[in-house]
Formats: sequence, C-alpha cells, structure tokens
Amino acid sequence: MKALHQLNQLVDTYSLTDKMPVLFLGHGSPMNAIEENQFTNGFHQVAATLQKPKAIIVISAHWYTQGTFVTAMQKPRTIHDFIGFPEALFNVNYPANGSPGLAMETKNILNPVKVELDEEWGLDHGTWSVLKHLYPKADIPVIQLSIDYTKETAYHFELAKKLSALRDKGVLIIGSGNIIHNLRLVDWKNFDKENYGFDWAIETKATINQLILDQNIQPLINFKNASKAFQLAIPTPDHYLPLIYTLGLQQKEDSILLFNDKLVGGSLSMTSLKIG
Ligand code: ZN
Repeated sequence: MKALHQLNQLVDTYSLTDKMPVLFLGHGSPMNAIEENQFTNGFHQVAATLQKPKAIIVISAHWYTQGTFVTAMQKPRTIHDFIGFPEALFNVNYPANGSPGLAMETKNILNPVKVELDEEWGLDHGTWSVLKHLYPKADIPVIQLSIDYTKETAYHFELAKKLSALRDKGVLIIGSGNIIHNLRLVDWKNFDKENYGFDWAIETKATINQLILDQNIQPLINFKNASKAFQLAIPTPDHYLPLIYTLGLQQKEDSILLFNDKLVGGSLSMTSLKIG
C-alpha cells in the first residue's frame, strides 16, 4: 500500500508539462566546475533557454556499474571522484536534494529491467561539475542513473527510450560525458590551445556531428565497427554512452542544437547537444 501511496503522490508532483528538452553535456576537466570559460558560458546559455525543471536525472560517465542503479537518497553527497586537483575543487559542495519518489518512478518505468535503488552513491563530478553552472542555486532535486557496463550499446539506446515519458513531466534528462575522450593521448602541453585536435579527432568530430544532425543513429550505435579514427576517439565507451542515452530520448520532431563544439588537448571534445 505504501508504494501505491507514494506513486499517487508522484502523479501530483510530476504532472504533465511542455516536453522538456534533453541535454548531452561534454563535461571535460573537473576544473570546469570552478572556472568560468567558454564552455561554462555555453552551459549558462543553454540553461537560460529552458523552463525550470521539476527534477533532473543525470546519466554520468562516472557511474559505471555492473547492473543498473538509481540514486534514491533524500540528500545525495557531493562525490569528489578524482585525484591530483587543487583543494578548491575538493571544497565544492552541490547541495541539491535527491528525489526518492522520482527514483522509484524511474525504477518502475524501466521495468522489467532490474533497477536497484541506491543509498550509497550521490552526485559524482560528471553531474555536479555541469549542474553547478546550469543551476548554481542547487534548488532542483537531482538523481543519477548508472550505466551498466556489461551491456552493449544498443541496449542503452533502447533503455533510454523508456525514460522518454518523463520529458512530459518536467524532468530534465542529461547525459554527461565526452563524445571524443582519449585521456591517454591528451597533449597536456597544448591543453589551453583553442580548439586543438589531432587529425583523427577532427575527422571523428565532423563525422559524428553529421550523423547526429542527420538523425542517422545506427552508425553511432555501431561505433565499434567504425574507422581507426573512431577507435582512437572512443577507446572505451564510458564517456560516449551518455550520448547514446540522450539520442535514445530523441523524438523525430525534436530540433537539435550543437554547442561547445570544440576540441581540447588534441584528444577530447566538449561538443554538447540540446535536443528538443
Ligand atoms: Zn569525465
């Protein structure tokens, strides 16, 4: 009975709204959390175009799990999941509430996929480093949905589709990763050089952007079979899969806006999307 009561409450809390857009945000270096630069400016600008969400779900590259989890605590902690950065970054706190109700609704909507309610995680830097710029007041409840690393890309695309009803309930869904993300090959000496990318990164960025704009999704799902340039751009899927979630939530009639469409350090892209 308790579950039914909670569900009724949710219907009130998350009633129908205009369809919310979906975002994919290239989060890049954790330092973006405490800097003001062209990319954080892009985050501010996109937030200014959105109606204020009732709640936010983030699919972060940094919550990569066996099985699927959703954060279900009332007060998620700010996780400083990195090493070797200035103390100022460890002092950042993003005190948004969680939403146990939305966690339960997300679990139900994804049924029969088994989703576990998590009380341990919180908000990792894939989430708070961007939300700090989108919603600095931290006054919107936030939950995270983990990425099951045992599953293939097409599975994530299909799973995301099931979440699309939440777009009509004032929920902003954000994928946070980096489309091109090869940390091993980063040219740290040229990290601050404007829009600096290796040839394979330039080529892959152009190809992927065109596929996104053409809504030609299949080659993006089959990225493991693509060119050598793709393999260098996406050596592991963790930062790429949040894009696949975002694309899974896309409806035919949605417009697509690319922003922060720059390369950094040779082998990273900050390209971000607003869909809808
Ligand atoms: Zn990251």
